[in-house]
Parts: sequence; C-alpha cells; structure tokens
Amino acid sequence: MALITFEHVAAHLDGLTEAQLDKCHRTIDEATGQVFYQVESSEYEQNEQMYKVTYDEETGFHCTCKSGQWGFANVKHWSGVDWHVRASVKRELEFRAEAQTRQDADAREQEARREEAAKKEQERQQEQAAPADEPTREQALERFRDAHRIDGRRPTREEAERLLFKVSPRPTREEAERDMQRYQARPFRIM
Ligand SMILES: [Zn+2]
Repeated sequence: MALITFEHVAAHLDGLTEAQLDKCHRTIDEATGQVFYQVESSEYEQNEQMYKVTYDEETGFHCTCKSGQWGFANVKHWSGVDWHVRASVKRELEFRAEAQTRQDADAREQEARREEAAKKEQERQQEQAAPADEPTREQALERFRDAHRIDGRRPTREEAERLLFKVSPRPTREEAERDMQRYQARPFRIM
C-alpha cells in the first residue's frame, strides 16, 4: 500500500465536524520536539480515552486507536485514515495558517520599524550635513529690521530686539505707553 502523506490527507478533509476538531489537542513531545496530536475518543466523557496521532514522512500516520493499530484497514474514507487523523491534520493546517499570519504581521511591523529608524537616521545626517545657516542673533535682528516697519520706518535695534526676543532692554515708561497706544486694537466697524 502506498504511503499516505500529509498532503494527501490535507486534500481529503471533508465530513469533519466542529465537535471532532474540538477533540484534537496539539502537543509537543518535550524530549524529541516532535509535534503530535492527542485526540479524545468519541466516548471520552465516559472512558476518558485519548488517542495519540503521529506522523513522519517515512512511515506515515499512526493512531493508537484500534483502527490505527490495524493500519486503518477498515477505513473507507478517501483519505485512507480515520477521523482522528483527519481532524488532527485539519487542526495542524489551521495552526500553521495562524502562525503564518502572525509571522507576516511581525515581519510587517519589523519592516515598518526599520524604515522609521532609517528615516530618522537620514534626517539626523541631513541635519548634521546642513550648513550652519542658523542666523546669529545679530543677523536675525538685522533681518527683522529689514522686513518690518513701525509707523513706516525701519525699527530701531532696540525695538527689533524687544519684538523679536521679547526681552529687555526694558522700555521706558514713555516708550511703553507709546507702544500700548500703537498696538491697541482698532474699533471694528462694518459700516
Ligand atoms: Zn484513530
């Protein structure tokens, strides 16, 4: 008899019930690292009987139930194995699909993190490479004076300093009053 492969059973999974799938428990043999399935028998509630479903590429599927002990000789299903094996294969396929989905999500997240880090690094390098075009305080003041007008004239250095840096030199009382008047909101009229 030809060896029944995992792929063959995977292609013949019709007729399984949710109840059967719920009876399959993925287990890992701590000593060997081999994955196998523990499957509750149909009468598990009465006898607490569990069967062990294993697979290896050389000898195929094994199940510790009676049918399995007879090499599934009584099985008429196209898969050539009993439902213990079919349900285990289905659960394994679901497990692998979920693992793949998780892996893909992790990979996407890592990729996004790498891109973010690369972008930050690029920005940092650009900042370092950029010419020191941060204007000095004097240059900033001069630019401000060039670009602004107070009562139609160029602001004085002190005015520019006060407006630009919001610092002293402390205005005289006269200056303060003059500024107050100058910056007072005009009454708003529509007509
Ligand atoms: Zn079995």
